[in-house]
Amino acid sequence: MVRRADPPCTQGGEQQGRLLFTSGATEAANWALKGAASRLPPDRRRIVTLATEHACVLDSVEWLASQGFEVELMPVGADGVVDLDRFDESLDERTGLVAAMLVNNEIGVIQPIERIGRLARERGALFFCDAVQGFGRVAMPLDACDMVSLSAHKVHGPKGVGALWIRDGVAIDAFVHGGGQEGGIRSGTLSPALCVGLGETAKLLGERAVADHDHVERLWQLARTLLPDWALNGSAEARYCGNLNLRHDGVDAARLISDVRDVAFSAGSACASGSGRPSHVLAALGLTDREARSSIRLGFGRYTSEAELSTALGLIRDAAEQQLRFAA
Ligand code: PLP
Repeated sequence: MVRRADPPCTQGGEQQGRLLFTSGATEAANWALKGAASRLPPDRRRIVTLATEHACVLDSVEWLASQGFEVELMPVGADGVVDLDRFDESLDERTGLVAAMLVNNEIGVIQPIERIGRLARERGALFFCDAVQGFGRVAMPLDACDMVSLSAHKVHGPKGVGALWIRDGVAIDAFVHGGGQEGGIRSGTLSPALCVGLGETAKLLGERAVADHDHVERLWQLARTLLPDWALNGSAEARYCGNLNLRHDGVDAARLISDVRDVAFSAGSACASGSGRPSHVLAALGLTDREARSSIRLGFGRYTSEAELSTALGLIRDAAEQQLRFAA
């Protein structure tokens, strides 16, 4: 069996830093980016990130652009992975902050975070990594990062809690002002239940890392076998296998979702669901609007059984075939 991603482990775990609780990863990314940007010297007000980042990063850097920062969005290839040579060329002495995600939430693609972080830091820029989808699931090169965001609910934990890890020596501005909790830089009373929930979530991720990895890999193989004529969006190799984004010419994903009511899957990014926003990630891969509208995203993990996945994919396949028959 080919392993597409190493079982999770943290490289550089000995690195010293602080883990500060937040309400989730959206707050953590806003805080990291805005809190670090506001301390950048005037000659380093340039931010580089990837076109496929989550809205919490893209919208934060867009806001920073409105405040006078120069922002560059790096394109990705058809496989969803950033071109490292091009990324390297884009970094200059004015670049003060770089952001890149570990695992993409729409297509499951893993970015080469270790290389990206090292290149950024070698140029004297701070590096922020949105590790939400990869936390505890794929190798996390912590020693290449200055700031890392996490969210409990994306890895089987409770909603309403996340964290920002900040390397010792990296200073960012306070985001929420008040009573001075969380080292004086994130005020507000935290929920002990949620904080313990995040801790227990992380503990379980560690304990079940190999079993989860192998289970998800088996589900992925099964899904690929059951939907053989669907094309994969994003790299087949550089990926977390619990995220499957597929497209089929002639299929209307929005209709498929309403036809298959017993299965929870999405036609675009769940993070942007209901927003009507087209998927910026699929567009960044070079997909046409039509191809994006024929794309579906399936997520599965620790608590999905092979039988459940087979049933779900059978329903999706039958409904898609019916659509194609009617269209013919
Ligand atoms: N980053 C990624 C990659 C995500 O997938 C999500 C949520 O889906 C977020 C950030 C935002 O996380 P939260 O819901 O904890 O604010």
